[in-house]
Amino acid sequence: MKNLEENPLLMIPGPTPVPHFLLMELSHAMINHRGAEFAELFSEILEGMKWLFQTKNDMMVFPASGTGAMEASLVNVLSPGDRVLSVSIGAFGDRYATIAKNFGAEVVKLDMEWGNAVNPDDVKKALQKEKNIKAVLLTQNETSTGVVNPVEAVAKIVKDYGALLLVDAISGLGAVELQSDAWGVDCTVAGSQKAMMIPPGLSFVSVSQNAWEAHKNAKMPRYYWDFSNLKKWTAKNQTPYTPALPQLFALRASLKWLKNYGLKENFKRHQLMGKMARAGANALSFHILAKEECASPCVTAVCGREGVDIKKVRAILRDKYNIVTAGGQGKLEDKIFRIGHLGWVFPSDLIRTFSALELALEDCGVSVEKGSAVRACERVILEAEKTK
Ligand SMILES: *Cc1c(COP(=O)(O)O)cnc(C)c1O
Repeated sequence: MKNLEENPLLMIPGPTPVPHFLLMELSHAMINHRGAEFAELFSEILEGMKWLFQTKNDMMVFPASGTGAMEASLVNVLSPGDRVLSVSIGAFGDRYATIAKNFGAEVVKLDMEWGNAVNPDDVKKALQKEKNIKAVLLTQNETSTGVVNPVEAVAKIVKDYGALLLVDAISGLGAVELQSDAWGVDCTVAGSQKAMMIPPGLSFVSVSQNAWEAHKNAKMPRYYWDFSNLKKWTAKNQTPYTPALPQLFALRASLKWLKNYGLKENFKRHQLMGKMARAGANALSFHILAKEECASPCVTAVCGREGVDIKKVRAILRDKYNIVTAGGQGKLEDKIFRIGHLGWVFPSDLIRTFSALELALEDCGVSVEKGSAVRACERVILEAEKTK
């Protein structure tokens, strides 16, 4: 069944598939990172990233995975002993809290049951109750549960209380609307291997005026992540240490593609794919972990059901049909599987995935009506065409 020459279809929420025209960019010859060609490349990227983040603020670019930029957003604006409110709706929200705690912040946690978004009123209540909260940590798109948080509504509340808002937008930025400046996000954190469609290895933080003010007195230890040092070099279109050149070449081309395709169009395609994934899974009698109103356009967490060995189904999808899906994280490890539809993924990829899922279930002895999930996906597409 499987074409061994073909790359697996990566239906996971990162790293996401890299299209051929971007893979080619990775084989660009190395250049001098202190020379004119690099300055031109880097300046183009800084400008493009500001467009993607919808910001006029300073942009920090790190040769690191997303978690590095999460750490950077904390250690540059906080001091040990500072109180932060960490909103967590899943594994990545927990990670943000842990980093803050490990660097000596006093972390107040606001935890939601996994599968839910935060209710902005709960953030308000927590800010009212807890005194002297210096920063609020929030995940835009919680990849472990397939849930999107109401960033704009939370941002409004956080402003009223004079706290900084730091948002982990690693798996959402570029696929789900996030207006850094208009909504008042002080640090927006993103990574290269999700909606940007390039390999892992780059991460980013935008830094607002208020974040710079906080930075002046921020005492958490840092060297590699220091914003001031980075800004000094960025002003010359250089980086303080050796940049991840292949990823930067690919990023330039990816930004060009995104600009041409259109950000709004990209948001729309992801919305459509989210709807398809939920409709397809429902047609096969699976429940979706996320509540419909906060379900992610980037990744769908599908709950296991009686009589279905999801590990076995995923193995057949991989070994027989060459389609890779993701398992659950943390306490959801054996309870869910996740279908990523993020980055260089298109509606036709979901049709292929659900067709294979129907057959893989059959292989596991689970009887489902063949074609029902595919039909549900097609219906979503046709409806979207009608309302265009
Ligand atoms: C992928 C992801 C991260 C971690 O990024 P790494 O590049 O693996 O360090 C953090 N937060 C969210 C929401 C993510 O999806």
